[in-house]
Amino acid sequence: MIKPGRSGMYLDGERLVLSPTDLVGFLYCDHLTELSLLVAHHNLAKPADDDPELTVVQRRGNAHEKEYLTRLRADGFGVTEIPGTGDLGARVQLTEKALADGPDVIYQATFVDAGGEGPIWRGHADFLSRVPEPSLFGSYSYEPEDTKLARQVRPSAVLQLCQYAEQLARHQGHPPELIHIVLGGQEKVSLRLAEFGAYFRAAKARFVDACTNGVVAYPEPVEHCAVCSWRSRCDNQRIEDDHLTLVFGLRTDRPANSSKGPVLPRWPSWPLAMTTRCRASTVLPSTSSAARPSCRFRPVPTRRRHHRMSC
Ligand code: SF4
Repeated sequence: MIKPGRSGMYLDGERLVLSPTDLVGFLYCDHLTELSLLVAHHNLAKPADDDPELTVVQRRGNAHEKEYLTRLRADGFGVTEIPGTGDLGARVQLTEKALADGPDVIYQATFVDAGGEGPIWRGHADFLSRVPEPSLFGSYSYEPEDTKLARQVRPSAVLQLCQYAEQLARHQGHPPELIHIVLGGQEKVSLRLAEFGAYFRAAKARFVDACTNGVVAYPEPVEHCAVCSWRSRCDNQRIEDDHLTLVFGLRTDRPANSSKGPVLPRWPSWPLAMTTRCRASTVLPSTSSAARPSCRFRPVPTRRRHHRMSC
């Protein structure tokens, strides 16, 4: 799951400015990229940034990041902090100066890569940690670290770190050997960058192609909807369309118009969260509202982890 509130591609003159968050958003949902492109080209207004649930998730993410920063300082590491807001160019210059100075840790390093003719890439790495591997800086180089609230490593976190590693390689002359993720329980997981390079390059090429040639996709519900600022719009669209995904628990890994028909969940495996969603929104699609069956959900003890349905 990506951090809400940090996405947002935009145009700088004729060129799109993209971030690792935009890339990860594309991998979760093509429709998100379609909407983001419309916003970037001034054909659609940004959604209001006032969703209380997203604000809570964002606050928790920031608190986790600050907690790790505090721990690093308490452990005696010298930390150079780059401002998290303000002029992008100035933040890039401060980052380049910090890389040359060589502190133990650089917090909120900012990169902008405007090389080549494609989109401009910007990125803000949570942390860069110094390692004793020689580079263009001298006897040391850096490896990127990102803090994530999740309890396990997700592909989205790895891809973001791959992009920071690519930016670091531009500066220090070679890619870092390891990338690191500090999970919600403060456990640090280190991964070998080389194992993810091919997937990262393929995913990035697909994303850049979609941004260049455009993308049109239906807002199928995906995991990222839970932290997406477009979710009201997409929910409303599905309701207006009486879309098949409104059928309780319908999986979206098979197209709704598939000749095999929709994939329905197995009854005993319906989790509690799904029954909550069902109570809030489920109506079986039909041609007339009069023909819709009346459904009611009776709560049963929590330990059974599903609700009984009677129609
Ligand atoms: S709410 Fe869901 S479907 Fe809509 S853009 Fe966001 S991730 Fe995609």
